[in-house]
Amino acid sequence: MTLTSKQLNQKLDQLKEQRDQPIRVFSKLSNCLEDLQGNWEKDKSIATLWQDWPQIIGSQLGEHCWPISFQRGVLTIGASHPQWRQALLYSRPEILHSLRANGHQIKDIRVQQHHPKKSKPAENESIIWSKHPSRVDVHGVKDCPNCSRPSPAGEIILWGECGFCKRVRL
Ligand SMILES: [Zn+2]
Repeated sequence: MTLTSKQLNQKLDQLKEQRDQPIRVFSKLSNCLEDLQGNWEKDKSIATLWQDWPQIIGSQLGEHCWPISFQRGVLTIGASHPQWRQALLYSRPEILHSLRANGHQIKDIRVQQHHPKKSKPAENESIIWSKHPSRVDVHGVKDCPNCSRPSPAGEIILWGECGFCKRVRL
């Protein structure tokens, strides 16, 4: 039996089909793994983005603008006020450059207005610490009237004695 070229091609296709079958299943699986890894990488990068954010964007802008989402290389930044949105758009090239310099694979930046439900805990902590009575660099040093030890002045003002004496009293 002689095969016409059309039949021959069909036969070849059939054979190729059979040959590729396990490969296709495998590639499906590896696609799936890639997706998983991709998702994980995406999560990782948004997490490190949050971490690097103040140094990428600067502390002033960082207080008013923050990363909202990061999808397919497009970073969406939320700004609390149109004024900050303008500032962001204005320094977009520098931010893109800074992001890339920090190893973030960013293709583009989008900016949208965004009102946070609550501020970041790190911010609150830094505010609390900046007002903390034990900050010698903020409040200076005074001798404790109780034990005469040089102590943070903020503590003396607040408690009338040093933190050590206060703790002993409690
Ligand atoms: Zn004391």
